[in-house]
Amino acid sequence: MTAAGRNKRIKDFPLKPKQRQIPDGIFNKCRKCGTIFVQKNFEENLFICKECGFYHPMPARKRIENLADPGTFEELYGELASADPLGFKAIEAYTDRIARETAKNDINEAIITGRCEIGGNPTYLGVMEQRFLMASMGSVVGEKVTRLFEDALRDRLPVVMVSASGGARMHEGLISLMQMAKTSAAVARFSQAGLLYISVLTNPTMAGVMASYASLGDIIIAEPRALIGFTGPRVIRETLRIELPKGFQESEFLLEHGQIDMIVERKALRSTLARLLDYGCNAYPSNRHSAKGGTSARKEG
Ligand SMILES: [Zn+2]
Repeated sequence: MTAAGRNKRIKDFPLKPKQRQIPDGIFNKCRKCGTIFVQKNFEENLFICKECGFYHPMPARKRIENLADPGTFEELYGELASADPLGFKAIEAYTDRIARETAKNDINEAIITGRCEIGGNPTYLGVMEQRFLMASMGSVVGEKVTRLFEDALRDRLPVVMVSASGGARMHEGLISLMQMAKTSAAVARFSQAGLLYISVLTNPTMAGVMASYASLGDIIIAEPRALIGFTGPRVIRETLRIELPKGFQESEFLLEHGQIDMIVERKALRSTLARLLDYGCNAYPSNRHSAKGGTSARKEG
């Protein structure tokens, strides 16, 4: 074949990785380096890119599967669903958006809450779901978080919260902002009772969620290189017109400056939580192995 013929063939069948079509559910592509993975292998590697180490968001149910002891997770408050208090409509109506997100992700809100065991330690667990409206906090997220802390306080059990969020949910206006005060008050009551709250921050945990329950843990863990803060770096840079330090608002920077306690690799998170809960739960030996027994067992004690 002539050189001109070869060039024509290349032009007709472009094979640049960026332009390939990726069939849904079979393959996935790293957001950072563009490497293509078989979805099954990608999930087995906990949604971390094997090439560049980038941490992709982990669906809430997969995260629960990864953290809770097999067969121990019991979902709570799953029936709560968003109302539309403001009759909000932007490009599409809030109610339509909720319906679309629910159908697409098979989850009806931006957090899953429940009770489980981690390394044999009964605990209340909340995991935020980024695929649902950027895991923004509306009235349902606020209510689920509040109930989780209230029930954990009643049962004198620890709470583990895995956060990821873009902040308050604008579709619910002021009602969304109120959730910051409501959840913080619930954490305060829980904390005053001397119970253990471990907060796990994943990429990104920002704005109203970081400014409320996510930053109130007794122990605050972050995943590597997670963006954590209130307002994003671009907005700060443009508002204050200053050059921000390198790595500003990333886990490593925050650890160095004392805002978080530890950075834990995703693969080591379960064993780390189990160990920390073990230390924490030793203060309440009567609570051990009572998660499945429910409230009645604890009321007797
Ligand atoms: Zn990668």
